[in-house]
Amino acid sequence: MRIAICPGSFDPVTYGHLDIIERSSKLVDVLIVAVFCNPEKHPMFTMEERVDMLKQTTKNFSNVKIDCFGGLLNEYAKKKGCRLLIRGLRAFSDFEYEFQRALLLKQVDPELETAFFMTEGKYSFLSSTGVRELAYFGGDISKLVPPYVQQMIEKKNFCTKK
Ligand code: ADP
Repeated sequence: MRIAICPGSFDPVTYGHLDIIERSSKLVDVLIVAVFCNPEKHPMFTMEERVDMLKQTTKNFSNVKIDCFGGLLNEYAKKKGCRLLIRGLRAFSDFEYEFQRALLLKQVDPELETAFFMTEGKYSFLSSTGVRELAYFGGDISKLVPPYVQQMIEKKNFCTKK
């Protein structure tokens, strides 16, 4: 069985993530979208909220499973019987970071491959950070995240827009 993992923070999930998830899930038997728990970061959404938003927004993709993990990604992948990681590339600026990360992982576990999906042009500017900033200042995020995620952001009660 071909299992792939798409790891990330997903704080929160955007249409850019969902595009990568949908396209990559068509090429494997099971795609695990794994929310990374980084205790050093202060995310806007809790782990449970991020998992919930991913579950809600991927429920039409039958072979996509949502999970969370902490610690080393290669160890998590091994535990899941997975040898393929999926990452998205938005712009040239993503490349250097992703390149280093993939090479480092390869060093740690030569069996673990990373495949990159080029973003849809219309999502090339889209990041969770951008969504959080826009929402904070009352900008329109309706074209950037699904309605469920938008509601969750609004519930955080810092949206200044009425
Ligand atoms: P970010 O906080 O930058 O959105 P994440 O850690 O949540 O990043 O991202 C998980 C994966 O999704 C990464 O591989 C990232 O490059 C990818 N990704 C994020 N946004 C997009 C987008 N708009 N288009 C394509 N890939 C994306």
